[in-house]
Amino acid sequence: MASATDSPAGFRPLDPAPLTLRDGSPWCARYGDVYYSPGEGAQESAQVFLAANGLPERWRDGERFTVGETGFGTGLNFLLTWDLWRSRPGRGWLHYLSTELHPFTPPDMARLMGALPAGLRRLGEQLLAQYPEPVSGYHRLVFPDDRVSLTLLFGDATETLAGCHARVDAWYLDGFAPARNPGLWNEALYAQLARLTPPGGTLASFTAAGHVRRGLEAAGFRIVRQPGFGAKRERITGVCESLPQSVDVRPPWLRWPEGADVSERRAAVIGAGLAGTSTALALSRRGWDVTVLDSGPGPAAGASGNPAGIIMAHLSADHGVVSRFTLQAAEFAWRWIESVAACGHPIPRDRCGALWLADGERLRLRLDRIAERLALPHTLMQRVDAPQAAELAGVPLTLGGLYLPRAGWVDPSALCRGQLEAASARLVTGVQVSSLRRTGDAWHVLDANGKSVVEAPQVVLANGLGLPALHPGIETRPLRGQLGIMSPAPSTQGLRRILCYEGYVTPATPAGHVFGATYVRGDTGTDLRAGEHARNLSDLARVWPAALSNGAPANAGRAAVRYNAAGRLPLVGPLPRMDAFEAAYADLHHGRSWDHYPDAPCLPGVYATLAHGSRGLTTTPLAAEVLASLMHGDPLPLSLDLVEALHTARERVRQLKRRP
Ligand SMILES: Cc1cc2nc3c(=O)[nH]c(=O)nc-3n(C[C@H](O)[C@H](O)[C@H](O)COP(=O)(O)OP(=O)(O)OC[C@H]3O[C@@H](n4cnc5c(N)ncnc54)[C@H](O)[C@@H]3O)c2cc1C
Repeated sequence: MASATDSPAGFRPLDPAPLTLRDGSPWCARYGDVYYSPGEGAQESAQVFLAANGLPERWRDGERFTVGETGFGTGLNFLLTWDLWRSRPGRGWLHYLSTELHPFTPPDMARLMGALPAGLRRLGEQLLAQYPEPVSGYHRLVFPDDRVSLTLLFGDATETLAGCHARVDAWYLDGFAPARNPGLWNEALYAQLARLTPPGGTLASFTAAGHVRRGLEAAGFRIVRQPGFGAKRERITGVCESLPQSVDVRPPWLRWPEGADVSERRAAVIGAGLAGTSTALALSRRGWDVTVLDSGPGPAAGASGNPAGIIMAHLSADHGVVSRFTLQAAEFAWRWIESVAACGHPIPRDRCGALWLADGERLRLRLDRIAERLALPHTLMQRVDAPQAAELAGVPLTLGGLYLPRAGWVDPSALCRGQLEAASARLVTGVQVSSLRRTGDAWHVLDANGKSVVEAPQVVLANGLGLPALHPGIETRPLRGQLGIMSPAPSTQGLRRILCYEGYVTPATPAGHVFGATYVRGDTGTDLRAGEHARNLSDLARVWPAALSNGAPANAGRAAVRYNAAGRLPLVGPLPRMDAFEAAYADLHHGRSWDHYPDAPCLPGVYATLAHGSRGLTTTPLAAEVLASLMHGDPLPLSLDLVEALHTARERVRQLKRRP
């Protein structure tokens, strides 16, 4: 494992907790402490954390309740809270945020779930099915049937909470005893807890250590000592009494109107591709009424209509925002797709793994750097030489590279249909949206003749390029792409993994092997072209010559247009009112304090999930979750630095920060 100093700034490989059992209870050798008391863990949690925070009584009204926890550990507190939540009346959502510096690995979590009390085992299995690999960052797990989401913040509690945007109603301050784990219990953590807690929010902890009490009081909580559980002398509960001075850590252009204040949950989504249908589903899971409009004859008429595409993290040695976002997005996408498939719509897919082949010396060095610096668990990334690559691929190869076991292919058009069906959203086809007109508190969505087709208080642009006249200065650029489809032959049907090189080729999908793709800037043509087919074939032949041993396949495939934006990330979030935005931030280059600037002026109720480029399968589900969380006022599933990296006007902010 790489040392912290070898790792990219802001990223540290995690050191998972080894699972040790002592007298049948999970034990942590690192801190010399138990995860929960032997034999009575569930009762202790129920009393010390749930009842002490007034649960379940506080769930009676309200649509949303957010629990925050320090120390996810075995997940026992989460499972108990989830179990109790299921028995409440009402239809709100439970959001549960939990930090963990030393998460258990999935196999150890499986052992722990197997040892749960019978009543929790079914929930434990559901948790396990989505439980992430131990990689630092945010991991959102959604359990839509029970209207529960779990966001695991893997990494140092204070650091991960510093990037969090949420209003936490109740805290469980767990984690090991302060004397054994002093790194957790400190002023910086208490300041984050206070920042995230509205007045009246509560906390509870098993400890009553004096410095913890004093620290929490200094941060703004009124602390009360309570009789401890079992043999323990004391524990504490607390109430947040005041807002600390500086509560908003967001830069002004990220200070958007809060979605929680929206009174009418009705949205029109423009575009029925991956971006639009995933957003429709994320909103409908929150109880929104959604209409999706598309100029095509049905869903997936644009880039999302390809027969198969790859889901894969786009890693880099510096683990910058693209690398971090796509790593989280790829893992989220698979969890999301399983939840869509569980609704009954068939979605051809195979998480077969991908070999990123070192096609050239420069790429070989780059892959070496990625493997060394990121030091991801071998379940996510392995360095392989050519014989190992060939063995994994099931076909002859002469190149090694990186093996990414958690990558795979999916049929995007089936996913679009599945998302739409699961969302029970209305679909209006054959409408070319030209603009939006504001009347009162609602937007009219206008067709090419200026006729209002749909009226809704909230609108999401999910049509790849956006409506440029509505957001001057926010640019999306067309990139034509063509892929080929090849019937499996004796020399190709043994391929078991996706091969990635300049392009990619999939194992046999229901459509055949899908290979490609080309990039032609500024071109919006969707005709199949012989020259691009030849280019795809020559890239394929370079890394896997045997694929063409039966002759080159005819020019069959698909061409479509993806749109991208500066920074190689999609544009996700509210759309600014660009004239007011320019005026508000015109002097950003002065480098004044953020207090000097107003909150972001936005087009009320207009949001975007655009420019997913060549990674829409990977990026659209998490983008949809970000957007729906923003629109609904839920805790965000990403740290604020990544939310900022997706900002619709990030390029303008970057330009305005530069001296004229
Ligand atoms: C050749 C090729 C290969 C690719 N391979 C992969 C891959 O392996 N993995 C991967 O993750 N991604 C891949 N992509 C990219 C991926 O397909 C896109 O990122 C994704 O489909 C974008 O989804 P979207 O919903 O934003 O756009 P689209 O799917 O293009 O959907 C936009 C929709 O909006 C509609 N629309 C547009 N304008 C209007 C309007 N004014 N009014 C009404 N409707 C409108 C269109 O009809 C369309 O249905 C590939 C793309 C191409 C072209």
